[in-house]
Amino acid sequence: MRYNYCPKCGNKLIAKQAGDDGDVPFCEECQEYWFDSFASCVIVLVYNEFQEVVLSRQGYISDTYASFTSGFMSPGETAEETAVREVKEEIGLDVQNLEYAGTYWFGAREQLLHGFIAYSPKCELNLSQEVDDAKWISVLDAPKYMFPESPGNAAYGIYRKYLKKLQI
Ligand SMILES: [Zn+2]
Repeated sequence: MRYNYCPKCGNKLIAKQAGDDGDVPFCEECQEYWFDSFASCVIVLVYNEFQEVVLSRQGYISDTYASFTSGFMSPGETAEETAVREVKEEIGLDVQNLEYAGTYWFGAREQLLHGFIAYSPKCELNLSQEVDDAKWISVLDAPKYMFPESPGNAAYGIYRKYLKKLQI
């Protein structure tokens, strides 16, 4: 999001040169630059010992498609902490062996997604109310249920990293 008005005092911002960053919205009142902002989120592929991954469906996003566990980072949290917390909250699993799987830009929502791959032994999923359905699905069947592949869909980038790890 690009700021037009100062979030502190409400004044209209002007464009001001900020070193190598070029013109940046600036509040003359507060003497402060307001760089473009965006949300930071995590997306976590959780796999088990049977080469299955968890896909969750959230009805407010789609009735048809599912994706990996995801959520917004809170200020003060690291992406790793968010990943562990979101998996616990949404599907009730305690993950092990959390591995970073890169960052992905989701332009439609202006979100920077931090991808992770994490292991959990197979056990019953304990769903949060945010999640309408979640299942362990064989890794090779997963794309049948996932959102169609598109440049903004981080799930496939992470999915392919997992396949590579399995050497499939
Ligand atoms: Zn201001």
